[in-house]
Amino acid sequence: MKPSNLFIYCLLTAVFIFSSYSNGNEEYSMGIPDAVQQQTIDSMIGKFGDEHAERIQAGVSQVAERWRSDDGSEEDFEKFCLDNFYHEQEKLDMVFDRFQENLEALYGNLHRIYRQFMWHLHVDTGPVLPLDRMFGEYDVYAHVGEDLFRSKIAFTALLNYPVYTLEEKIEKGEGWSRRKWAEARLADQFLNRIPAEVNQKRSEIRTRADNYIANYNIYMHNLVDDEGNRLFPEGMRLISHWGLRDELKAQYANPDDGLERQRMIYQVMQRIIAQEIPKVMVDNDEADWNPYTNEVWKAGTQDPADASPEPNTRYEHFWRVFEGEQAVDQYTPDNPTLIDRRFNRHREIFEDEVEAMLKEVLTAPVLNDIARLIERRLGRDLEPFDIWYDGFKERGQFPEGKLDDIVRERFPDPESFEEQLPDILKTLGFSSERAEYLSERITVDPSRGAGHAMGARMEGDKAHLRTRIPEDGMNYQGFNIAIHELGHNVEQVFTLEGVDYYMLRGVPNTAFTEAFAFVFQYRDLDVLGLASDDPQSEAMRALNDMWMTYEIAGVSLVDMRVWRWMYDNPGAGPEQLRDAVQQIAAEVWNEFYAPVYGVEDVSILCIYSHMISLGMYIPDYAIGHVITSQFEEHFKDRDLAYEMERMCVQGNLAPQLWMEKAVGSPITAQPMIEAAERAVEILD
Ligand SMILES: [Zn+2]
Repeated sequence: MKPSNLFIYCLLTAVFIFSSYSNGNEEYSMGIPDAVQQQTIDSMIGKFGDEHAERIQAGVSQVAERWRSDDGSEEDFEKFCLDNFYHEQEKLDMVFDRFQENLEALYGNLHRIYRQFMWHLHVDTGPVLPLDRMFGEYDVYAHVGEDLFRSKIAFTALLNYPVYTLEEKIEKGEGWSRRKWAEARLADQFLNRIPAEVNQKRSEIRTRADNYIANYNIYMHNLVDDEGNRLFPEGMRLISHWGLRDELKAQYANPDDGLERQRMIYQVMQRIIAQEIPKVMVDNDEADWNPYTNEVWKAGTQDPADASPEPNTRYEHFWRVFEGEQAVDQYTPDNPTLIDRRFNRHREIFEDEVEAMLKEVLTAPVLNDIARLIERRLGRDLEPFDIWYDGFKERGQFPEGKLDDIVRERFPDPESFEEQLPDILKTLGFSSERAEYLSERITVDPSRGAGHAMGARMEGDKAHLRTRIPEDGMNYQGFNIAIHELGHNVEQVFTLEGVDYYMLRGVPNTAFTEAFAFVFQYRDLDVLGLASDDPQSEAMRALNDMWMTYEIAGVSLVDMRVWRWMYDNPGAGPEQLRDAVQQIAAEVWNEFYAPVYGVEDVSILCIYSHMISLGMYIPDYAIGHVITSQFEEHFKDRDLAYEMERMCVQGNLAPQLWMEKAVGSPITAQPMIEAAERAVEILD
């Protein structure tokens, strides 16, 4: 798997702690009338003193907003506030410590149960039983969010600790103490109380969309060109879009008919986007298809088959995902759209900042130089699918087979990988002492999937590195992925064990952990003792990064604009969405790609399947690449091991603040662009 796939994989395995459960259709009303709130505030000021007025007002209103009639009467509300507000610092410290201890016990142990329940699905332990799937579907987190409210634990946090908006965190956060940040993160956990049935509905919609994507395969041997030739081998079954894309990428190394195959894959993608693909070709090998003429035949014959297109399923799912989010909107009045929630809460970088960063990438003049360089290397003009050009590879000097041999000999099984963790970490620059410390906290399991890093959620528990090692030993591709996962694991250990407050554990958002994983992955040849300091290979990597980020930045912008369009046109529906998505993709193309490619009105940027179900996750991929370049620039003349630990133990601050403290500037694409400019000069 290429880094970009890993990224997606890692994102998909993120667990949402707070979902709630349904008790059927309960009837309750939400909120406490203003007069009752005011009366409560007055009684509390009378009891605790005027000097606490500000905290009291904030706390009462936070609790009132989320209080439901089934939590108690208005009198119960007032009594709760009077009984559970802490005004002495000593008591407040105790309350804060209790939250830290108990939430670590809750999340840490639930995570251990989750890991165990998923064990036989994730770890290669032999045949999977139906029972394993049942445990896999058992959601240990399902009741947690609602239980914390029902037990009034959440209300106690909200009564005593203010919730801050992203604006406030950015404005004041720089001057906050570590403890103050930890308190803000504690309150963040209880920001929204979304009714169980709304949450459940949303997650069912997402699961259905995920299943649609997960089963969208194309049988490549069933594709024929105008002469009836089959360009792809028998048995090749590729998932849309990433399997198709990776095959397209691989064909850059095929000098014979690689270009014909790429054009055919591109044609298939266009049919999928436009929903013109014959229904019979989706996850089915019983028909042959010419994607250019859109004719279909019964497989292996000249008999025409049913060519009716796939109904508008792709955009039906997309629209349902939008509806699922709309149902949530009213319960998050502070951030009343998914756009607000994604940027202000989950990612904590403002939408306009992300957009500016994407445009910084998309309008970099160096893209023109890289495009001309690619054309020279390909010996032809660029075609739209060259957004996935894969020819800047530094590994040319080692044939893949040779690397496979080296890796196989060194890592015959997962145990050998675990045993050598200290050595691997030392080659990356960690001291013996730190290498031992980390290795004691990371354990290696044989994986069913390509690879995965599962961090711990309580001190004393270990991070798990999952890697797939075939019977005859590890291969180079598996090794490359394992080193990526190790980057996650090292981050996970530092951000759990090294952070001073449990509430601050972790990194600001997913893009950051991916950036650390990429930093490791880039150094895989160092681990094998094969890296060269050749400026040529560094230049190739810089160009590869820039070109990959160019592609994903455009996709991110399409994703963001489509969501804006849906919120602007809530009455539209799936049919109009299909047309709008293609139009938006073409607009983004015309603005940022047509000047470089010399072709207009291309809609390829909306082929990403994750756009359908993940609700604007894609910009994190672009941000991850940009941050990686900033890290690399920073690590150039510094000690990687020391710096990584220093950065990680900051914990979960707001991203821009974290970045300032980490590398001395907010998130910016400048280092990536400048590295690409230097690279063009070297290679020209
Ligand atoms: Zn990853």
